[in-house]
Amino acid sequence: MPDVYNWQLGRSMAYPYEQAMPARQWAFVININRCLGCQTCTMACKSTWTFEHGQEHMWWTNVETKPYGGYPYAWDAQLLELLDQANPEGMSWDERDPEPRAAPYGTYDGKTIFEAAHERKTRPESAQRVLGYLPPDEEWATPNLHEDVPPAPAAERNQWVRGGMQLPEHQAWFFYLARVCNHCSYPACLAACPRQAIYKRPEDGIVLIDQERCRGYRKCVEACPYKKAMYRPTTRTSEKCIACYPRVEGRDPETGGCPMETRCMAACIGQIRLQGLVDMHADGTWREDRQNPLYYLVHVAQVALPLYPQFGTEPNGYYIPPRWVPRGYLRQMFGPGVDQAIERYLVPERELLAVLQLFRRDNRIVFRYAIEEGPKVFETEIHGKPFTLYDDTVIAFGHDGRELFRTRVEEPFFVRPEQHQNSI
Ligand code: SF4
Ligand code: SF4
Repeated sequence: MPDVYNWQLGRSMAYPYEQAMPARQWAFVININRCLGCQTCTMACKSTWTFEHGQEHMWWTNVETKPYGGYPYAWDAQLLELLDQANPEGMSWDERDPEPRAAPYGTYDGKTIFEAAHERKTRPESAQRVLGYLPPDEEWATPNLHEDVPPAPAAERNQWVRGGMQLPEHQAWFFYLARVCNHCSYPACLAACPRQAIYKRPEDGIVLIDQERCRGYRKCVEACPYKKAMYRPTTRTSEKCIACYPRVEGRDPETGGCPMETRCMAACIGQIRLQGLVDMHADGTWREDRQNPLYYLVHVAQVALPLYPQFGTEPNGYYIPPRWVPRGYLRQMFGPGVDQAIERYLVPERELLAVLQLFRRDNRIVFRYAIEEGPKVFETEIHGKPFTLYDDTVIAFGHDGRELFRTRVEEPFFVRPEQHQNSI
């Protein structure tokens, strides 16, 4: 297999195809700390793309309650188990020499799902290109099983809860993990397709299934470690998230040619999602683009981390990890950058606080931001560290450099005139 570079792993890895990166890549950041679990994103996607016959079980966007929830059932626990078996010597990270953009989390020492499958091929029982499994129908049937269920009281025996709780007065924890296809830089679905029906668009890295070529072998469903490729029995083809590409292309009539965020991002009433496009080098590392909010959150502030980077697909979905969850659980899910990300989020720098205000102020994609400094509001200590709040103004710019909107760190509030029945 060819060698390709995976910056999230800090090393080259084996992949069935030669490296071929788009110039620009669709990507997103989700701030788990503020997700309400309201499922507005889930329903926005469902009512846009998957309301037809044969799509009843399909939730391209979903929100599951961790640690027990999962759609399809226990997708990550099952894949982690397979990866464990493929890595008898363990999976660890060497964090000694991180490099800013080429290896920000250090180097991953274990095998990815591609490498594990490649090794297995020497044995006659397997011809998989990607380590994976095909969930049976019943595992797709309960998309929100275990909603709001914390790992307690049985979890008092659980080492994560005992050893890592951030809030000792609470004996229970859970969090909402909002998920969508990651439009991976090394898509497992694409790697596994024997018909070469799956392709990655050079203009924005969106991964699509050509419905004319697909024959419904379900190799993509088996291979996607995030289980975001799904089979449709009425057409006998597989389908997946299309990243609302007409919106990203600026073809939505609402916006007059301005690229828009996907439906699940734009609908988020928790204001926790930010989606955009990032510029890439030929090896998949991100071009320095200091004023792109995604670049800032992932590479400068380093508060947003990839979901299960050890799988090896270089997912383009990033998460600000929840601060109340046991760290061991989070490190397994987001890699070794978790501690630093939470520290930085807990006591945010002035610029980070301003950039966080960009989430969901507008449906149009923010390509660049600028900050105008405002007055000091107050200062305090958070976890023993000094913190000062400034009422800065952050300004968002679109694809053509025009201003989209501006907003302030201090939440603006309005007093209604006393003419309505519900006036205070
Ligand atoms: S998340 Fe799954 S379906 Fe989406 S691009 Fe990655 S491997 Fe393919
Ligand atoms: S709409 Fe936003 S807040 Fe609501 S569940 Fe989805 S990601 Fe969470």
